[in-house]
Amino acid sequence: MKINHLVAASAAVLLVACSEAPAPEAEEAAQPVAASNPMLEDWDTPFGVPPFDRIESEHYLPAFRAAIEMHAAEIDAITANAEAPTFDNTIEALELSGGKLSRVSRVFFAVDGANSDDVTKETAKTVAPELAAHRDNILLNKALFERVLAVYEQRDSLELSPEQAHLLDETHKQFVRSGANLDDDAQARLREINAELAELSQQFGDNVLEETNNFELLVTDKADLGDLPASLVALAAEEAKRRGHDCEECWVFTLQRPSINPFLQYSPNREMRKQLFDGYAMRADNDNEFDNKAIISRMVALRAERSALMGYDNHAAFVLSDNMAETPDNVYGLLDQVWQPALERAKVERADLQAMMEADGIDDRLRGWDWRYYTEKVRKAKYDLDDDALRPYFEVNAVRDGVFGLATALWGLQFEERDDLPKWHPDQQVFVVKEADGSHLAILYMDYFSRPSKRGGAWMNALRAQSNVDGFVTPIVTNNFNFPAPTEGSPSLLSLTNAETFFHEFGHALHGMFSNVRYESLAGTSTPRDFVEFPSQVMENWMRQPEVLRMFANHYQTGEPIPQEVIDKINASATFNQGFATVEYMAASYLDMAYHVLDSTARFDRLGRVQYVVGHVEVAGRHVLDRRKALVERG
Ligand SMILES: [Zn+2]
Repeated sequence: MKINHLVAASAAVLLVACSEAPAPEAEEAAQPVAASNPMLEDWDTPFGVPPFDRIESEHYLPAFRAAIEMHAAEIDAITANAEAPTFDNTIEALELSGGKLSRVSRVFFAVDGANSDDVTKETAKTVAPELAAHRDNILLNKALFERVLAVYEQRDSLELSPEQAHLLDETHKQFVRSGANLDDDAQARLREINAELAELSQQFGDNVLEETNNFELLVTDKADLGDLPASLVALAAEEAKRRGHDCEECWVFTLQRPSINPFLQYSPNREMRKQLFDGYAMRADNDNEFDNKAIISRMVALRAERSALMGYDNHAAFVLSDNMAETPDNVYGLLDQVWQPALERAKVERADLQAMMEADGIDDRLRGWDWRYYTEKVRKAKYDLDDDALRPYFEVNAVRDGVFGLATALWGLQFEERDDLPKWHPDQQVFVVKEADGSHLAILYMDYFSRPSKRGGAWMNALRAQSNVDGFVTPIVTNNFNFPAPTEGSPSLLSLTNAETFFHEFGHALHGMFSNVRYESLAGTSTPRDFVEFPSQVMENWMRQPEVLRMFANHYQTGEPIPQEVIDKINASATFNQGFATVEYMAASYLDMAYHVLDSTARFDRLGRVQYVVGHVEVAGRHVLDRRKALVERG
């Protein structure tokens, strides 16, 4: 059933899943907007890509509402069937229902994540509780669940294919995990919780985006830029102009990753680094209208209450029971194995940085805003390697050619750029991807650059998932990044980490493109969340291989291939700073677990602040960083 993704609005890596199931025939011409709304029409575009040139932000909300009605009518038809429940008339019928809604959701959430405007933001807020209610109307529909249960109970005698048996299991499990077995009172409460959570999580993401965009650091003295790469200096100058600063020479730095990270790496101005660092760490924690503390507290409380309704100790136990990790104990078992060695390593690294800072004549403890700056200095001293020297070898199109070249070498894939297909932003690139034998595999959209309308991080999603019920439906996938945009004087030059991110996200894209199943809801990245990173890790590991680097890392001006000695330095420094990197994301993992192992008896009314949760965890003897703000985004 293609309804899971409907409520999966925003996560660090959004991997929505769905497709183009046969659209229901024109529903009883109810919505007047249907006649002129491209989101509800059949698309005669090449490869069936969304007609982004005709879709206006105003089209989404009426399309959602009409598609929800269509889906509800299809569900009614399934429950009204006088015939006894069978796999075909119930499980498969359910799977094939909601095609239009699936299409609207996939396109909308992709656009709202990568190129939002006031209308899409408002639409997301409005539609979140409506989708949550629609989902509950299906999964708490008693007549429907009875039919699902009837089929499920005969499963051993139905002679289903392995994929059909899996779909039946998943469908049954989805109903049970959504409260189908609860009594009426519990179900009524569940509906309220789901609606409120949908609204809150939407609000949470909007607040982070607002606070990210509202902050700026204005620099007027060139000395404060230090050794910042020229391409990024130009980007900061353009940002100052874009924001209307009327100065001869000035630069604006923002909380977008391509802006904040290099400034923290290169600016010798400690006070400014602190301002930017605090700006980032304090997003949505400034006691203003965009503050998320009360929202976090409320969401944690609601999740705990919902897990109790479902018969689990806490939200973590509930969520993990449907993933490979299975239990919070297993999660802590893995985290705890890694934590101590990583922390020891991070302390060794910190000592090096502290020494470097003292050599600079600064008499203070190394702070968060010093870490990246002195890391670059130590990297240069130890490995004679700096980010700035690498970027010219990682022009964005060169890295793309490396990623594609690797896919050609490994699987024979062919990529053909198309400039005639509609896009949601002019900077996007669109490719037809073909198998070695020339047959069509997928359409791939690439959206590289950071901008205020895009949320942070990097992710993949499917505008159309693969399926094969009434003919093979090929996937349409997108990769989204926050790379530095090109400027007048310079193309987009990536850091080593950016380049790794490119390979990583392309692994997710491959997962979507190589999908070969019958049912959309089992396609591509619709796997347990803790499996989904497997293909991306495989691709990421290819990036530093010398033969792969030699395929693409040519200097953007001279065309000179990356020298062997630079490749050697990259590999020699591969484990450099990994104590910090590991501790940084593990702290976020511990904090995430800390919120979600709280049970419904915790004093949420007094929770109020993030601090409280961290305190609670320390009392429980769990490890958290000594820094209060350990939350990091990781794409
Ligand atoms: Zn990933």
